[in-house]
Amino acid sequence: MKIIIIKFGGSSLADPGRIRRAAAMVLRERKRGFSPVAVVSAPADSTDDLLKLAALAGGNNPSLREIDALLASGEQISAALVALALAYEGAAAISLTGSQAGIRTDAVFSAAAVLSVDAHRLRRELKAGRVPVVAGFQGVSPRGEITTLGRGGSDLSAVVIARALKAARCEFRTDVKGIYTAHPAIVPGARKIKAISYEEVIRLAELGTEVRQLRAVKYAAGHRIPLHLRSSFHDEPGTMVTASGGRRGATCLSIKKEGGCTLVSVIGRGLNKTHLAGMLRAAASCGVKADVTDFSSGAATLRTSHAEGEVLLKALHGAFFRR
Ligand code: ASP
Ligand code: MG
Repeated sequence: MKIIIIKFGGSSLADPGRIRRAAAMVLRERKRGFSPVAVVSAPADSTDDLLKLAALAGGNNPSLREIDALLASGEQISAALVALALAYEGAAAISLTGSQAGIRTDAVFSAAAVLSVDAHRLRRELKAGRVPVVAGFQGVSPRGEITTLGRGGSDLSAVVIARALKAARCEFRTDVKGIYTAHPAIVPGARKIKAISYEEVIRLAELGTEVRQLRAVKYAAGHRIPLHLRSSFHDEPGTMVTASGGRRGATCLSIKKEGGCTLVSVIGRGLNKTHLAGMLRAAASCGVKADVTDFSSGAATLRTSHAEGEVLLKALHGAFFRR
């Protein structure tokens, strides 16, 4: 039984049409001979909406236990709907809360750490030929309380389940096709990256672009779980995140406002003085005043003004990722 984990982000579950499309994607994998386990986020903005409701009903110093009980319901809605959509397509499926899926955590509400995964129930469902659809972002404390795993925590659910079931693959299906050489909304020529290392994804998050929950990436890195970040709209390959990543040199760029300045970084492996000189040359060639704030083999950062940040980003992209 080749188990694969397919995690869907909230925007990929935003309406009934998208939920049916996610279910169809899971079914396709089953037809290819895999035993899929779906892990789901709450639909679109529902977690934020629930937080607003909590503030309206309970003021701004609420019980974190109740906040977790409330927020966990968002993922439960997705799980039940995806299970219904799978059943409608004729596939046996069962939704599971984090607790039912055996995700045991400590008792730190809103940022619980996963202590262990008891995968008996998941294995039993798979053996019975059912597709488990697990509500992400949640677990159960030693006292039986519902806990949540921090914002973006469905990512962590996916990787801990992948490890517990020794899954052959762990996919993240979202509304983006993968990681890009730069933010495509700012740099139109940005390209999808085929492979990147955990370390680079962690640097990227520190330098302004969190592509997946940091805790989840660190967990995946610690246990060498390859991640495939890809689209929920089609089956084109996305970006693989592994220990070795892709080629050495510059991998991608990131931009981040910090105080009164904008930081623009090149992230890569084996960056050296030649890369740094190339960055400074690119800045000079577009007339941007920039100084070096950080330089290591994994990242090099230039600081400039807010007004010039995007100009610098585009110039660096031209210098490092010209086709
Ligand atoms: N729904 C939660 C959040 O928005 C968890 C997740 O999406 O992974 O943070
Ligand atoms: Mg969400």
